[in-house]
Amino acid sequence: MIITATLNGMTPPSWASHVEDKLAPMPLLLVQAFVDTLDRDLGTDIFAHPDEARAWLADAGLRAADPSRPDPGFAVDLRLAREARDSIRALIGRNTGHEPLTAGDLAPLEEVLAQAQPRLEVAADGRVQLGPDPATLPARALADGLLGLLLIIRDAQADGDWEKLKLCGNPDCRWAFYDRSHSRRGTWCDMASCGNRIKNRNLRTRRAQVS
Ligand SMILES: [Zn+2]
Repeated sequence: MIITATLNGMTPPSWASHVEDKLAPMPLLLVQAFVDTLDRDLGTDIFAHPDEARAWLADAGLRAADPSRPDPGFAVDLRLAREARDSIRALIGRNTGHEPLTAGDLAPLEEVLAQAQPRLEVAADGRVQLGPDPATLPARALADGLLGLLLIIRDAQADGDWEKLKLCGNPDCRWAFYDRSHSRRGTWCDMASCGNRIKNRNLRTRRAQVS
């Protein structure tokens, strides 16, 4: 309970301010915040506006940007960011029983892997690390930043945190949330906004079928 209270009391980084609730621990929070830049329930998308997208990616350390300079390459990067976001959402969906990823789902991540420049580094304390290290972001290029996200996912898969990152059971929502429940059976991003809505919808469907 103390852990929960501490995390709830934590002020999230500015790039995660839109997540609000059921936050993953750092650094997995970065993966969650990236996927949740799209809010299908509210119909809002931080990546819908190039200026807003560029500022968010820079704030999150995924792509360095100088707001005072023109950025002609950004349109291509924005497309990759949107597509990689769909891929990573599909990856999280595996934790909630969704279908395995198709070649189409994986293609944007393969593009990231083809463009990124991973680095193997030996630190002064002797640890051998594969980078870009999320702690040393910002990445200069978006592909390096997105590779950093994949490395965070790999570490979370190794330590067991990954499977607690889930997609909301409301098909119109699919919000990524971190399940801190003891039973690990949380289904909704929010019971009030999605859980009850789906329950009511199922109830209406059943009533319609009965009548
Ligand atoms: Zn939801």
